[in-house]
Amino acid sequence: MVHGKNSRCEDFALIHDGDRILETGTWSELKDGFSGEVEDLGNVTMVPGLINAHVHLELSHLKGKTVQEQGFINWVKSLLANPLYDLDTEAVRKAVKEMRGSGTAFCVDISTRNCAQVAGIMDELGMGFYGCCEAIGVQVPKEGAKFFPQKEFKHGRAAGSGHSLYSTGAELLQAVKKANNEAGLPYPIHMAENTEEDEIVAHGTGEFAGMLKGAGLLADCGSKGLRPVEYADSLGLLDESTLAVHCVRVADEDIKTLAERKVNVCLCPRSNTYIGEGRAPWEKILKSGINTCLGTDSIASNYDLSMWNELEYLLRNLEISLSTAEALALVTINSAKALKIDDSYGSLEKGKRAVFATIPAHLEDLLF
Ligand SMILES: [Zn+2]
Repeated sequence: MVHGKNSRCEDFALIHDGDRILETGTWSELKDGFSGEVEDLGNVTMVPGLINAHVHLELSHLKGKTVQEQGFINWVKSLLANPLYDLDTEAVRKAVKEMRGSGTAFCVDISTRNCAQVAGIMDELGMGFYGCCEAIGVQVPKEGAKFFPQKEFKHGRAAGSGHSLYSTGAELLQAVKKANNEAGLPYPIHMAENTEEDEIVAHGTGEFAGMLKGAGLLADCGSKGLRPVEYADSLGLLDESTLAVHCVRVADEDIKTLAERKVNVCLCPRSNTYIGEGRAPWEKILKSGINTCLGTDSIASNYDLSMWNELEYLLRNLEISLSTAEALALVTINSAKALKIDDSYGSLEKGKRAVFATIPAHLEDLLF
């Protein structure tokens, strides 16, 4: 049994068997008749295990190796100057342990080359996960192609994801989307992250388009002057299983479309600031009713992978106020719903995984 507080109750306790929550209630009612081990957390607030809805653990060796606040092109250039996909398993292991240590119980990891290895490390360290194999490039997928390993893990599942509208061909994006939908998996895709993406999707031009073309990664977006959300919609990529990551460059009409299609949005506020591409219209997105959650993105565009720090940054810069429940939902239940894992994560309820975090003392005032 674990005894502490939660956001609604000063005298909260839960009984678990190491895997699942067996009972929740007040300490006074649960303690009678309980003879097992008791962990008393003292005067801290327990919350469900946090969810990081967007990270690239494959890049864990790149902390501090990229330029900050100089815009996307300069950031990409500094990123590409590094050995991107030489997996440093020790760095990944360390990152997962730090994430676990700061309360994260589940993450959506996106890997371009090493998704099975990264998934293996997360599984071994008890991190719940989707290990997403990122589809990038303009090749047309063959009939019956598989987009992620059909492998069983204890704590997570393999899945597919699309890199972006501009670097992944339309047929490939659609095929991965179809495979994920058929397997009941969410479909993460970077969307509307920066001005370079706007220009490529709308017109196929710009310095970044040239770089992608040189690498054989420039997708033909049709040059019809569409914004990323409009183009994604025209490809049939937007539905309730889609997790649109970033959504910095979205117009009011795009927000309306995302809401109508019941798309889930993952904001990565600190990553956008780190790269220097501004910030998403957080207030409009939150007010629109879109199911919104948070992710750190990779350590190559952030200072750490702590979801508490991500939430704190958003709350300190947000121009509307959220209730405690609304704020916590961004890193717990909203993410769990977006990822279709709310049967096991997102709240401290009987039957769900016995994973919880505690609110750091310095955030108590901000959250309550
Ligand atoms: Zn990302």
